[in-house]
Amino acid sequence: MDHFLYRDGTLFAEDVPVAEIAATVGTPFYLYSTATFERHFRLFDEALEGMDHLVCYAMKAASNQAILKTLGDLGAGMDVVSGGEYARARAAGIPGDRIVFSGVGKTRDEMRMALTGGIRQFNVESEPEMEALNAVALELGVIAPITVRVNPDVDAKTHAKIATGKSENKFGIPISRARDVYAHAASLTGLKVIGIDVHIGSQLTDLEPFRLAYQKVAELTEALRSDGHTITRLDLGGGLGIPYERSNTAPPLPVEYGAMVKETLGHLGCEIEIEPGRLVAGNAGILVSEVIYVKQGEDREFLIIDGAMNDLIRPAMYEAYHDIIPVVEPAPGLEGATYDIVGPVCESGDTFAKGRDMPTLAAGDLIAFRSAGAYGAVMSSEYNTRPLIPEVLVKGDQFAVIRPRPTYEEIINRDTLPAWL
Ligand SMILES: *Cc1c(COP(=O)(O)O)cnc(C)c1O
Repeated sequence: MDHFLYRDGTLFAEDVPVAEIAATVGTPFYLYSTATFERHFRLFDEALEGMDHLVCYAMKAASNQAILKTLGDLGAGMDVVSGGEYARARAAGIPGDRIVFSGVGKTRDEMRMALTGGIRQFNVESEPEMEALNAVALELGVIAPITVRVNPDVDAKTHAKIATGKSENKFGIPISRARDVYAHAASLTGLKVIGIDVHIGSQLTDLEPFRLAYQKVAELTEALRSDGHTITRLDLGGGLGIPYERSNTAPPLPVEYGAMVKETLGHLGCEIEIEPGRLVAGNAGILVSEVIYVKQGEDREFLIIDGAMNDLIRPAMYEAYHDIIPVVEPAPGLEGATYDIVGPVCESGDTFAKGRDMPTLAAGDLIAFRSAGAYGAVMSSEYNTRPLIPEVLVKGDQFAVIRPRPTYEEIINRDTLPAWL
């Protein structure tokens, strides 16, 4: 559920007409709904009610500080995967003790930054990383709280590029080796082992892979406790999927996920952390674009729009589907058309949809990509020297630009010429 709905035939973001924002900021742009972000965070928070828990938003999904502060004000923690994300979360006012540091290649500089700035825990992914963190902690005279990310070797049944829980993936340590790795961790005096971490992938549309992974985590918790480790916290990662295609069956709801967590892990008395990204942000954002030309090809019609793969790379990178809707609803009875919807970038991969049934559109019409809030703006680039597009946040009847569109000068002035030129 989201807050992008038609009223009297025109698309609104909460109480603001999308066309009005387009007229103010220009197209293309990302548009987010505060109410949708808040709703999705609360759904997870409520799903874990009755268990000691913290929802740590995986900020790599959408990391504008206005979004982080919106969620932080509700009590959210953050899951960060880089020093840059750590700095951004802190700048948005998230206290260090609500930030967990994930990622397979944390550098010593990043560790130092988080240990001095304050951190809830590191999710350690390898023994070399464990030793590096131990060294940095000892050098700073502090103790680093850690979980170890285990790879449970379950098939998340999602797109290969976002599956992370099979043994061939680079993430975590093999669960079969966990007892040895925890013994190693316990011998390092700069570390304090507090729990176990697992994250098996993204855009999961079925609870079964989660259930299999969490059952393995439950068994491991008991094994580690019998080895003498104190396991008080379980970080269960993110990954719950969203319905990109409205006609498809919907993925499980947070409340169903929460019930499964209680069922598989509730008896252990651990504090639970979850790291949802996509489900919090995905349907909280749309990408608004304008039709530049309608071009007749040999056997098809192209809708050439001002948004491109550099603005939203998911279709090119993951063969992802996005619902694409007109900002002004077609008059009833008007005949539709079928388009290939493409951007202006010089690559055939710059294609958002092929053979998509749409209302008949003309140059100057506005369209919106639904479910573009997660892994949208954060994955955009300036390919073709196209400026990063603005981000706009709506709250009720107000809207604000939360990242302005840079000018061409700002972009090209970042280049510096060497002395010999
Ligand atoms: C990407 C990621 C998440 C968030 O995944 P979603 O599918 O967006 O919920 C959570 N934890 C870790 C470690 C991640 O890498």
